Amino acid sequence: MDKPRKGEIRKPTRTLSGITPVAVMLPPRKCNHGMCVYCPSMDVPQSYTPRSPVVMRAKRVGYDSYKQVCARIKSFQVMNHPTDKIEIIIMGGTFLEYPEKFKNEFVKGIYDGLNGKKSKTLKQAQKMNETAKHRCVAFCIETRPDVCVEFIEQMRNWGVTRVELGVQIPDDKIYKKVKRGHSVRDVINATRVLKNAGFKVGYHIMFGLPGSSLKKDYKLFKRLFSLSSFRPDQLKLYPCQVMPNSEIENWYWKGKYKPYTKQETKKILIAVLKIIPRYCRVMRIMREIPPQYIIAGTQRIDLRKEIESELREKNLKLKEIRYREIGFAINRGEVDNNLRLKITKYRASEGTEYFLEVVNSDDILFGLCRLRIFHKNAIIRELHVYGPALRLGQEGIISQHRGLGKWLMGEAEKIAQKKGVKELKIISGIGVREYYKKLGYRLDKTYMVKSL
Ligand code: SF4
Repeated sequence: MDKPRKGEIRKPTRTLSGITPVAVMLPPRKCNHGMCVYCPSMDVPQSYTPRSPVVMRAKRVGYDSYKQVCARIKSFQVMNHPTDKIEIIIMGGTFLEYPEKFKNEFVKGIYDGLNGKKSKTLKQAQKMNETAKHRCVAFCIETRPDVCVEFIEQMRNWGVTRVELGVQIPDDKIYKKVKRGHSVRDVINATRVLKNAGFKVGYHIMFGLPGSSLKKDYKLFKRLFSLSSFRPDQLKLYPCQVMPNSEIENWYWKGKYKPYTKQETKKILIAVLKIIPRYCRVMRIMREIPPQYIIAGTQRIDLRKEIESELREKNLKLKEIRYREIGFAINRGEVDNNLRLKITKYRASEGTEYFLEVVNSDDILFGLCRLRIFHKNAIIRELHVYGPALRLGQEGIISQHRGLGKWLMGEAEKIAQKKGVKELKIISGIGVREYYKKLGYRLDKTYMVKSL
């Protein structure tokens, strides 16, 4: 790779949402429940392949979390990306099922890596990160719906702010067929408990599983938003692909299973994208699986780009968050800077969600805030101001650091007050605590809190 020119940002879309993502891979370990039939088994982290870039990077440093974070930050710096606001994501299996000691050390290694210095304890490392050069502003763990409810407190102690659940498609018959080892009830429970604790909740969805069909997938997907017991904040959408050493590989060779073709995959993706509401963000479409590991199923990693440009040509607008974000819109030309507040209220998991957005006349999104009210409790689950990830404190060309965060917070506080709530909590990444302190919040256990 050539050295980037001064000011040139390589792969700019990586940080367009305002935060620099750092994936940290777990060492290989089998999931406790057994194997889902589509999951490959290749002596690398569960559900990944030996040639996945993130796996190769992690393997080079023996899956050491400290070294992975240090190396990743360095490579973002080389590509000229800002590295002040980092989102950590732990990948590769069910982290919460690993031994206690390992989990705590792995998380401490992450904060040490961000700080560039090894602390004695996790608490010390976190304290140091509150004012560090590379701050952890968001922290995500991927897990199963049946392995998460009992770990809420532990996840908060680690500074986790987002949990991604492997939901695939919510149907107990399909779960049984693909040996998921959990039920739809587990998904509903996990979603509620996580939201009440302030976490952002993402679902991983898989289309074309054994026992499903285009019609069934669409019907089941629709439920994710028509029923208040689901309503995730974020989605990752993948088709089921046949990968080596998975049980469906045998089914495929015996003619018992056939994955969706590219056309079928495209059809279901377009259909579901059209019904995703404005409070949900589609984080990713398709997994980055090197083509040599796809025995059958679509290999098109860039399908999202194709679908979105087709939709834009037809002048069809999607409501989901990423499609409307300013970071992506700025590349498409002039942007109207007259901003207004839009509030969407909806029921979710036995609570009321207020989704506050700052948008312009074209519905381009500059910032958002998620306020949840349930049984007289109020919690802010997300505050995000969009725009290219600008270095902390640097005046930006667009939205960050222009008081949008303060505006959204003020409006959320007003709503909570009107509902008779006495205290507002915020789930906060360790590296955002300083920001909330300036807005009058104080640290109470693992949340930032303010009396109203
Ligand atoms: S839960 Fe995920 S990682 Fe574990 S076997 Fe199933 S698909 Fe693979």
